[in-house]
Amino acid sequence: MEIADGKIKAIEKFSFFTDHGIDCTDKYLLPGIISVHSHLSVVYPFSATDESENSAQSVLRALSRARDALMAGVTTVRSVHEINMADIHLRHASETGLVEIPRIFGAGRALSTTGGHGKGAGCVYVDGYDEFFQAATAEIEKGADHIKVFISGGIADAHESLEGAQMSMDEMKGVVDAVNAKGKYVVAHAANSESISLAVDAGFRSFEHAYFLDEETAGKMKDNNVFLTPTLCVTRSPEWMADHSFTKEQIDKAMEIGPTHLKSIRNAIKAGVTIVAGTDYPPGEAIEDTFVAAKEMEFLVDAGASPLQALQAGTVTSAKLLRAEDSIGKLEVGMIADVIACRKDPTSDLSAIRNIDLVIQAGKIIRNSISKKDF
Ligand SMILES: [Zn+2]
Repeated sequence: MEIADGKIKAIEKFSFFTDHGIDCTDKYLLPGIISVHSHLSVVYPFSATDESENSAQSVLRALSRARDALMAGVTTVRSVHEINMADIHLRHASETGLVEIPRIFGAGRALSTTGGHGKGAGCVYVDGYDEFFQAATAEIEKGADHIKVFISGGIADAHESLEGAQMSMDEMKGVVDAVNAKGKYVVAHAANSESISLAVDAGFRSFEHAYFLDEETAGKMKDNNVFLTPTLCVTRSPEWMADHSFTKEQIDKAMEIGPTHLKSIRNAIKAGVTIVAGTDYPPGEAIEDTFVAAKEMEFLVDAGASPLQALQAGTVTSAKLLRAEDSIGKLEVGMIADVIACRKDPTSDLSAIRNIDLVIQAGKIIRNSISKKDF
């Protein structure tokens, strides 16, 4: 591969690697991982979140997670709610060369109904068409690339119901009208078929979790070309949760939903819904013998995706969701040179992505554990 000005200039030549003494001849090169459901500034346990926290604290916490992600091989993240708009501040810092982190597509703060799923997390709290419209417009004007909302309850709160919708059709339309006016899109935390069906009708484009998804709604998602981020990690990682101060009640609730969640994602994959990979947990953190973003792709295979589909969910398909498929997510001439290397062919054995030996972002070597050689 030849790389110039941060982009791929030629595929068949290995000059970039040989120039740096990196022997890639027995390696498998992939595009850098794109993880599309991140909360870089999240506090564990959630109950320790201070909604009046100084934004410098939020940004520093987010920076540490962002660094971990990049080192792991995640070269792009989509954030879907950050307290104090930590993602937007971080993105600015990286654009000005201050910090080396994944490319960020940011939501800023999520919008939540009063008392809804986002309560206590530093969201913007609004009700009714007008308030949702105005709040979405304001986040976009402050730099958000998309708007995150909660259309149902979730598993983080052990006592919250996962049934029904937390936003009215009118409120959903308020957000959709605001994003359409600015050329952006809505991403929804969504637990169940009922709320997803409503939001598809309202014009939402991106859905997260889908713990309870029936075949009919999966078919509707497919017919409307929306994206689904399963975040399977959150219902099958009890040890990780225990290590991060989740309560026994929260862990029990997550594990109880686990089998239904997997079945729901099977429904989605079978129906042909476009699946993208995102973790909810910081994507670069260690989990079992690997890191969270790699583990999520393995979970997608458990739900019926092929290894290739899972890899695409974490690269080229996610790039489409971000409307960035012309610049990232593929190894092709003219694309930004985000490259990772592993030792085996991950399309035949996905566990190959557990061990990434080389991370390059926009043509810059971020990490290399392949021993140096003279060419
Ligand atoms: Zn989330």
